[in-house]
Amino acid sequence: MANLVNAPDGVPGQGFFLTSVEKAVALARKNSIWPLPFATSCCGIEFMATMGSHYDFARFGSERPSFSPRQADLLMVMGTVAKKLGPVLKQVYEQMAEPRWVLAMGACASTGGIFDTYSVLQGIDKIIPVDVYVPGCPPRPEQVIDGLMRIQDLVGKESLRRRHSPEYKDLLAGYGIE
Ligand code: SF4
Repeated sequence: MANLVNAPDGVPGQGFFLTSVEKAVALARKNSIWPLPFATSCCGIEFMATMGSHYDFARFGSERPSFSPRQADLLMVMGTVAKKLGPVLKQVYEQMAEPRWVLAMGACASTGGIFDTYSVLQGIDKIIPVDVYVPGCPPRPEQVIDGLMRIQDLVGKESLRRRHSPEYKDLLAGYGIE
């Protein structure tokens, strides 16, 4: 039978496995990430292909896209974000409960892409913190999956205390988020 997930560091024994709560929580979190697809243009179509049976995002425990920020822990921003839309994106981020992660999919979400104009936000990290950037215009589904796996790496290694740390609070304060 295929090995679905790797066990965290710990001490195996006859009928038991000893590890820390932090590692057990991280294992559960990283394999049940619920994404919120914030799709505004063509990259969103590529995400739909990634969700389809051929690429099968469900393999990573992420088969449930959430369109409610309160039931999502990964904000996936895909497509061009106009400056007018910026406050809406920020509000969606603020409505997500901690811990939350952000993936910028494609050149537009990451940097504004080819739209170097007065009306387009030159990267969503101007208004919210981003954990992983996926390059491409659009990125192929393999790249999106790779981006999700990079998020899984971060989730799996994150300390339970990080969200209460002064560094994290400073990061959010830098974006004007409490
Ligand atoms: S990065 Fe390219 S494919 Fe993605 S939204 Fe921008 S223009 Fe469209």
